[in-house]
Amino acid sequence: MKLAKNLERLGTESAFKILAEAKKLEIEGKKIIHLGIGQPDFKTPEHIVEATKKALDDGHHGYVLSNGIVECRQAVCRKIKSLYNKDIDPERVIIMPGGKPVMYYAISLFGEPGAEIIYPDPGFPIYESMINYTGAKPVPINMLDTKDFSINPEKILSLINEKTRLLIINNPNNPTGAFTEKNKIDELAEGLKKFPHVAILSDEIYSRQIFDKKKMPTFFNYTNLYDRLIVLDGWSKAYSMTGWRLGWSVWPESLIENVNKFCINNHSCVNAAVQFGGISALDGSDDFIKMVLKEFTDRRKIIFEGLNSIKGIECSLPGGAFYAFPKVINTGMNGEEFAKKCLHEAGVAIVPGTAFGKKATDYVRFSFASSKDNISKALENIKKMLV
Ligand code: PLP
Repeated sequence: MKLAKNLERLGTESAFKILAEAKKLEIEGKKIIHLGIGQPDFKTPEHIVEATKKALDDGHHGYVLSNGIVECRQAVCRKIKSLYNKDIDPERVIIMPGGKPVMYYAISLFGEPGAEIIYPDPGFPIYESMINYTGAKPVPINMLDTKDFSINPEKILSLINEKTRLLIINNPNNPTGAFTEKNKIDELAEGLKKFPHVAILSDEIYSRQIFDKKKMPTFFNYTNLYDRLIVLDGWSKAYSMTGWRLGWSVWPESLIENVNKFCINNHSCVNAAVQFGGISALDGSDDFIKMVLKEFTDRRKIIFEGLNSIKGIECSLPGGAFYAFPKVINTGMNGEEFAKKCLHEAGVAIVPGTAFGKKATDYVRFSFASSKDNISKALENIKKMLV
C-alpha cells in the first residue's frame, strides 16, 4: 500500500498512549493512580442522562441537521446570553461531535503550504499536529516565557505577519492550568484590530473551570471581532461528558457554509438523542458545575502544596482547568524520565511536558481530576520514589 505523504506530518495525543500503557500495567496486576488523562472523574448529572434516554424513547433515532438540531443551537445561544450577555444568532452555532473537530475544521479551513498559523506551545497537541498536516507553517507562542504561563499579548502580536491566517488561543490552558485575566485578553483583542486578515480560534473548553471566583474572559466580549472569530466550547469538561462526544462552536457567518460542508463530508450530524441531553445540561441548574469547582479547588490546594513540598519540584498555582504543570528538572530527571519513573516505580500515570510541545522538556502535567485520596497517595508515592 502506498500511503499519503501528509500522514507523515500528522501527530497524536500521547495522553491516550500513556493511558494504554497504564492499563497494561493494571492488567499485569499493578495498582496505578491515574493523573494522566484530562477528564473529570464525576458521572454526568442524572437529569442529562434522563433527557437523553427520553429522546431515544421518543424516537429521535434518525439523521438530523448537519449543524445541529435547532433546539440545541438555541440552547447554546441562551447559555451564551446568560453567561456573557451576548446575543448570538443560532445560525452561527454548529453542534459538533466534541470540541476536537472544531480544531480540525478550523485549521483545515486556513491551513495550506505558504500559510502560517500561530498556536500555544506547550499546548493541546492537536493544534500543532493539524497545522503540520495541512502543510501550513506552525508558529509557536512560547508559553514558558511567562512565569505563570499566562498569555503575553505583545509577544503574540509580534508573531503576526502577512502570511498569518489563524491565531489559536486557549484560556484557561491545557496543559499548564494557566488562566489569563481579562485585561490581557482586552489588550490582545485591541491589538488584533490592526490585523484584519487574521482569524481567531478561541478554545474556551475550560470556561466553566476557573478558580478564585474569576470570570471567564471570553472572546465573545469583542463584537468587533465576530466576523473572524471562532469559539470552541462544549459539554465535555463542564458537565463530565467527555465520552458523549458533544461540543459546540460559533463561527463567523461567512464560514458557516464551508464548515457545514466539512460536517456533511465527515460526520453527517451529531447523535440526535445526545443533543437533547446537551439541551438539558445547558438549560438545567449550574449546581453540578459549582460542586465540581469546589472539589477541584480543594484538590488544587493539595496538589499545589504537595508538589512544591517535594525537593526539586516547582509548581505555579493553576488558575483554571484541572492541571498542574510543575518543573521537575531539578530532581535530576527531565519530564519524560520523571513521568516514566512515576508510572513504573510510584504507580502514578502522568504526562511528560513534551507531549504538549518539544520545548517543555523540564515539565510534566498532572491532571487533578481524581479523588483527594488518590492525589495525596500519588504525592506520597512520588516523595518515596525520590528518596
Ligand atoms: N481543547 C482543549 C484545550 C482540550 O484540552 C480538549 C480535551 O482535552 C479539547 C479541546 C477537546 O475536547 P472534546 O473532548 O470535547 O473533544
